[in-house]
Amino acid sequence: MEKPENFKSGYVAILGRPNVGKSTLLNQLLKMKLSIVTPKPQTTRKKVLGILNGENFQIIFIDTPGIIDPTYNLQKVMMKYVRHAIEDADVVIYMVDASAPHQHFEEVQEHLNGVEKPVVLLLNKIDRVKKDQLLPMIDGYRQIHPFRAIIPISALKGDGLDRVIPELVKLLPEGHPYYPSDYITPEQERFFVAEIIREKIFLLYGEEIPYATHVEIEEFKERPGHKDYIRAVIYVEKNSQKGILIGKQGQALKRVGQLAREEIEVFLGRPVYLELFVKVNEDWRKSDSKIRRLGY
Ligand code: GDP
Ligand code: MG
Repeated sequence: MEKPENFKSGYVAILGRPNVGKSTLLNQLLKMKLSIVTPKPQTTRKKVLGILNGENFQIIFIDTPGIIDPTYNLQKVMMKYVRHAIEDADVVIYMVDASAPHQHFEEVQEHLNGVEKPVVLLLNKIDRVKKDQLLPMIDGYRQIHPFRAIIPISALKGDGLDRVIPELVKLLPEGHPYYPSDYITPEQERFFVAEIIREKIFLLYGEEIPYATHVEIEEFKERPGHKDYIRAVIYVEKNSQKGILIGKQGQALKRVGQLAREEIEVFLGRPVYLELFVKVNEDWRKSDSKIRRLGY
């Protein structure tokens, strides 16, 4: 791969307690760029959550085991997880919920004790914080660790995010990109595969069926020496819709599978074995909790 002048690339781990907004941040950052092209097999043991490609940089966000809820009181295990995540990363994002009633200075300090990698502290959810509380908070955190930057953000509203990427890029080492710029992550692969199946349903069925449909990829397995195995479940709202979707002797569903498989193979650049199931999720569009569980 050609390396442009001053190219920066590396791994960024996002640490923080559950619910501080890590996933929200990642989605926001990656929304800026989602490219669809043929992926290459993953070469590292790191679980890549997303890759952000810029003109002079490639940021690879990696999964962290997460900081376990301290109510479990597994301090040692917790510390081990945090250490591993930090070892894997070039730059660490430590995220806290600035709107939480208690600041966890001690805990943050303990997690970062002895860490030499650059750490950027993100104070999230500032949409719920009074402005005059922010400065003392920043001062407080400054006392406990030599953060390279402390950035107040609202991952949800998108506030402050334009500062995050330049700050990370500054801290990344110079080097070649690790992945081709059109690499997509396994998460993204699943998403697009589901979209392709949904698209075929829109193509082949009229009226309410497509709108009552949700596609979930239950299993996506690479099998060395064999085709990839993909099991997708198509959820509909009613038994009657299930009947229509499947069709006489399964002919209609078979057509969906055939068209979808052909396109998935082109998209992935490799052969797949696609299995489709239809299940009823009673009136899912009317239930907030069902909608949420389906990831909307
Ligand atoms: P994670 O467990 O750290 O990945 O946290 P999530 O990204 O799943 O977010 C947990 C909850 O916090 C969700 O309900 C989000 O909508 C909410 N959340 C995340 N970022 C913000 C923010 O900036 N402001 C507010 N008010 N809520 C947020
Ligand atoms: Mg999360």
